[in-house]
Amino acid sequence: MKLIFLGTGSIVPTAYRFSSATLIEIGDEKLLFDCGPGTIEKLRKVGVDPNTISRTFLTHYHVDHVLDLIAMVKLRAFDRSGHPSPNPSRLKVYGPVGLKTLASYLFEEIPHFRYISRNLSCYKYLELKEVTEGLVEDAGAWRVMCTPVRHYDGVAYKVEAEGRSIVYSGDTIPDEALVELARGADVLIHECSFPEEHLLGLHTSEKGLAEVAVRARPKILIATHLYPAWEGREDELARFLSKVFDGRVFVPKDFESYEV
Ligand SMILES: [Zn+2]
Ligand SMILES: [Zn+2]
Repeated sequence: MKLIFLGTGSIVPTAYRFSSATLIEIGDEKLLFDCGPGTIEKLRKVGVDPNTISRTFLTHYHVDHVLDLIAMVKLRAFDRSGHPSPNPSRLKVYGPVGLKTLASYLFEEIPHFRYISRNLSCYKYLELKEVTEGLVEDAGAWRVMCTPVRHYDGVAYKVEAEGRSIVYSGDTIPDEALVELARGADVLIHECSFPEEHLLGLHTSEKGLAEVAVRARPKILIATHLYPAWEGREDELARFLSKVFDGRVFVPKDFESYEV
């Protein structure tokens, strides 16, 4: 599996980090986790045609995790030359309860966006699956599971393929169910929004993340969803986590990638 960090920041962008999006490539399959603003541009920059993304897994419906979904859906209606595509590729979107309501608001209720469903027929190529807990999808070569986390009815996902596993937290406070999902995983990608002294909202600091990592014991811990308070302090964050947790620790910037 190849892990490509497209967006490692929050809703408050910096020059190095923008809103959430992570791509996992398994052979020819491209699984996108979260689709925050800037995702389409980031995909282009890493050489991935957004219309080749067949599945998008949303952790929750905050803007920094979903906004580019609107453009991604509309984009399906066109080919590379900008002409209407005769046969748009399908896009399957997974997300917690509320996904179908959100999609119908976005594409059918907002008068200025309504043409996306009426004229461009987005529902012909859009498939929506609401998820709660347990198995999300089993494609044979890979499977995805989820568990609820305590952040605005959000979920965390686990991908298993090629004998390896990657867990992606989305936004959350340190969460028992997530520890269980991540136990013994090869990679745990976990939010670390704020340094402890700046911690706000339903998020995780370096102290909370270290406790989660010590309990879940993944082989590799990756901290993401960093607010600007971490800017220039990434090495300090990695050092702190490495002192407490004995696996490998990474704090990637946008566009970094790893083979898992
Ligand atoms: Zn959030
Ligand atoms: Zn967020």
